[in-house]
Amino acid sequence: MTVCAILTAKGHQVVSVEPDVKLAAAVKLLSERRIGSVLVMSGTRIDGILSERDVVRALDERGAAALDEPVSAAMTRKVVSCRLSDTVTHLMEIMTSERFRHLPVVEDDRLVGLVSIGDVVKLRVQEYEAEQEALRDYIKTA
Ligand code: AMP
Repeated sequence: MTVCAILTAKGHQVVSVEPDVKLAAAVKLLSERRIGSVLVMSGTRIDGILSERDVVRALDERGAAALDEPVSAAMTRKVVSCRLSDTVTHLMEIMTSERFRHLPVVEDDRLVGLVSIGDVVKLRVQEYEAEQEALRDYIKTA
């Protein structure tokens, strides 16, 4: 199973903010959209990624004043991305070794979607259930 299959099921929408947006506004967006990260973009260029963990770190280091700072002060700048043809197993390896839960999908330098660890788990559960169903059918008809 590839990233392409995940995006076909969940869609290509990615929530993003510009780098000079205040951290407080990004926090509101994370809360309202019930998501764990936003991409930070200047036009079509990915400048960084801001996850709820970055917000926690900024609050710990700089207190509530961090909320008044631009998102660019709290985001991670070196963003790791994946491609449509990558396998879900490969994604799980990256998420585990790099210790993050979000991967933007980039094709020909263009952002085409974002996969979260929740999407990966959902797909794995569906695969597992389909396998179980197939095995049950096989046993019944054997
Ligand atoms: P997460 O587990 O995705 O909420 O993020 C944990 C940390 O990794 C945060 O500092 C994020 O900014 C960072 N992070 C999340 N996704 C990526 C990514 N695709 N590339 C680089 N850093 C990331």
